[in-house]
Amino acid sequence: MYPVTLELTDRRCLVVGGGGVALRKVQGLVEDGARVTLVSPAAVEPLEAMAAAGRIGWERRNYRAGEARGYALVFAATDDREVNAQVFRDAEEAGIWVNVADDPELCSFHLPARLRRGELQLAIASAGEAPFAVRRLRGLLERRFGPEWGEWLAAAARFREQVRRLGLPVPEEEARFERFFEATVDSEGLTARVPGEAEQRQWLGAEVDQGRAGNDGPLVAPGGDGKGVPGFVSLVGAGPGCPGLITVRGRRRLAEADAVVYDRLAAGVLPSDLAPTVELHPVGKVAGCHPIPQEEINALLVRLARAGKRVVRLKGGDPYVFGRGGEEAESLAAEGIPFEVVPGVTSGVAALAWAGIPATHRREAVRLSLITAHEAIKGEGSLVRWDLLAGDDHATLVGYMGVGALAEAVSRLLDAGMDPMTPAAVIERGTTSAQRRVVSTLADIPAEVARAGLEPPALLAIGPTVRHADRLDWFHKLPLAGHRLLTAAANAELAGGLEDAGAEVVTVPLPVTPAARVVMAALPLTGCLVRRPAEVDGLDDERCGPGWGPKVVAWCVGEETASRARDCGWQRVVVLEETLDCADVVARIAAGAAAPGGR
Ligand code: SAH
Repeated sequence: MYPVTLELTDRRCLVVGGGGVALRKVQGLVEDGARVTLVSPAAVEPLEAMAAAGRIGWERRNYRAGEARGYALVFAATDDREVNAQVFRDAEEAGIWVNVADDPELCSFHLPARLRRGELQLAIASAGEAPFAVRRLRGLLERRFGPEWGEWLAAAARFREQVRRLGLPVPEEEARFERFFEATVDSEGLTARVPGEAEQRQWLGAEVDQGRAGNDGPLVAPGGDGKGVPGFVSLVGAGPGCPGLITVRGRRRLAEADAVVYDRLAAGVLPSDLAPTVELHPVGKVAGCHPIPQEEINALLVRLARAGKRVVRLKGGDPYVFGRGGEEAESLAAEGIPFEVVPGVTSGVAALAWAGIPATHRREAVRLSLITAHEAIKGEGSLVRWDLLAGDDHATLVGYMGVGALAEAVSRLLDAGMDPMTPAAVIERGTTSAQRRVVSTLADIPAEVARAGLEPPALLAIGPTVRHADRLDWFHKLPLAGHRLLTAAANAELAGGLEDAGAEVVTVPLPVTPAARVVMAALPLTGCLVRRPAEVDGLDDERCGPGWGPKVVAWCVGEETASRARDCGWQRVVVLEETLDCADVVARIAAGAAAPGGR
């Protein structure tokens, strides 16, 4: 079998048959720009719709002998083997490539299973022998190759174009391509990243005229490096804390950034494969230290942008919901710096969902109010209308910054006449491995929260839908809820399974990047999963980092890995047999270190 990729734009293709199989063929062909003629007396609804919309031609009748002639490619997918065979014979006679669905003997070509990431395509073929195996393999690769590969390929194509324009001798061109590849692809973990402009300029070499190279995207900083032309700032919402809850666009901006200015609440969401060349500026509050004043953050954003950098300002939740994002945008606008806002999933909705509380619910809560509970301690200067909130029985009230001011907020509502039995909850670090929640009533919630020792960041939720919290609690029921597991990027597939089981998984590239260290330190780790001695070596230095306490269990696949960990002085080493599949690993971790095989 000889693989090729065909340019089908405006080529005439024939599909005989009108069922589900034909539909899939037609969709693929149309997507690639082919002009499709469908021959079939009847067709499934989506095919009818495509024909009605003029996207394909439909001959509503049986196939006529000899008709295959004149097409570039021919497909038969009827349920009549005789018709299929006729189509095959006609095509063969006319010298046209032909494929009969599910009948390898009547095929002069086969269709590979394919995986698409933008212009990047992986095709998997088995000469029609074992389609099920190919499908499974495709599924595996599907999980392995994220959407970033498409963006990576587009960046590679742009980079190639820029290198070409330099007119260098071939070996020098090759050296630059090599640098691009080496710096952007983790060959162990099969992950890729889109490099920043500054990095690429470096790879292109000093001889590049910056005005000439790489002005194709709207986000490319036109000048650069202090020449006075502004860069660009993206105010990106990191979501509530669970790393999977940042938006696709937010991830993309991070992958393209030259500098990231992040809050403490957003630290766990940084992609751990950010290039070491990306500047990282932590500006959030750290317990015991004074926060960096807002004016300084504003000034930092302006300074970085003025240096021509692509800056991501990464903020917890949504940038415009109690995050002072509005002030940062005002300051950028006042300085004439181009910026955008990439919204995020706000904690006031997401943490509720993770705690089993619908933010609204038909006939129960028809209004959602987001307030800053902090306003309760502002005395007469409070801008919150506690009287209106207290009088609304069919609403959910969400109080941000809800721990420090909890008692005051509750007494304001009670004073304003709210029913003391109204269901109320406080959720700490919602959507993360450290999530805790207390569910009670308005009158009792301050005492219950104090007893449980909940700490900021936490949200207060008050209203009738809070009473669903136990019945709709899906998160705490997951076997690995509460686990925060570190693993090497090479184990991405296993990481996916652990995540599905409720764990927060920190996958880090080896060697470990500065961004990965920030992510590791964002919350306490509960375990580290290593599959090879080399991973033990790669992570050994990290054990003194802040996220790695004495409780971390070292889950080691295979005796060899475990003995390396013991040799390095790792504590709480547990061996997992190499034969275990993902479900077994989940069960073992859920059962804890004391389970069979533990030490
Ligand atoms: N812009 C953020 C809110 C910033 S204000 C957003 O849209 O979510 C900071 C407050 O948000 C914290 O004091 C806390 O009340 C709340 N918060 C943020 N993340 C949280 C989380 N994961 N769980 C509970 N509360 C959270």
